[in-house]
Amino acid sequence: MADPWPAKAPRDGIVLLDPRAAAIFASGAPLRRLATGARWSEGPVWIDESQSVLWSDIPNDRILRWSASEGLAVWQQGVEFTNGHARDASGGVLHCSHGLRAVYRTGIEPGARTILVDRYRGKRFNSPNDVVVKSDGTIWFTDPPYGLLVAEEGHGGVAELDDCHVFRFDPATGDVTAVTGLPHHPNGLAFSPDEALLYVSDTAAALPGHGPQHCIFVFDVVAGERLANGRVFAEITPGVPDGFRVDTDGRIYTSASDGVHVLDPDGTTLALIPVPEKVGNVCFGGAARNTLFIAASTSLYAIELAVRGC
Ligand code: MG
Repeated sequence: MADPWPAKAPRDGIVLLDPRAAAIFASGAPLRRLATGARWSEGPVWIDESQSVLWSDIPNDRILRWSASEGLAVWQQGVEFTNGHARDASGGVLHCSHGLRAVYRTGIEPGARTILVDRYRGKRFNSPNDVVVKSDGTIWFTDPPYGLLVAEEGHGGVAELDDCHVFRFDPATGDVTAVTGLPHHPNGLAFSPDEALLYVSDTAAALPGHGPQHCIFVFDVVAGERLANGRVFAEITPGVPDGFRVDTDGRIYTSASDGVHVLDPDGTTLALIPVPEKVGNVCFGGAARNTLFIAASTSLYAIELAVRGC
């Protein structure tokens, strides 16, 4: 039987660029817009306990929540300009905060904030942007300058560190380590399923005069805690690769200005999911973890896939 969906044939707007991509979209589900009304959406995270998505509306300094049962709600107003999110090893929610120049922790409902880390060698971070948690409980996050340089995304301020890094924080010991300064403006990050690789995007091109980089780097993870052999994994156009996530087979789902680009671990772009608004970040969620939630400018979108997120 012939392939019912040959490469490069659009299906609900999705563009397959490689025959290997057909299996990802086997359900044929369309892209849906779930909610709108934000100014700049970032940092979605799936909350399994409440079957909901939390995400940041950075310029409005709030976190929004969407669930199928209750629709859109404001989770909390006045969150110190949060950006990226992750769940931690103890079931909390980690928030990258431009306003506090810190990574802080809450429960899954609004409440007390615990600042986990806000300095490296005595100097304040720039503005933590995105965060992932490794299986050993360590917290890895990026620290570009957007909260300092973009007036509506923080309180401004002066950089105390002389560069932008990816940091590894061990909550068991309190140790903070700068694991790489290779990306000029490190932004999104994710481990490969086996945690042998760390992907980090560089979005320097997003701000005029800060550099041409719009790529995703990949690093080897050495002894579970250091990075080596940094090299460019893929150049992403149009726009920049902001946040991204990885599925259980290692494919990368990255933001771009025209939608979500799906890349094979070998670097091949497999497919494009066009989104009507500029995409900031994505996360997997849903009961089967096969829904890709897409935070894109004013709105939250979703598409059901035939693969599962890490
Ligand atoms: Mg980001």
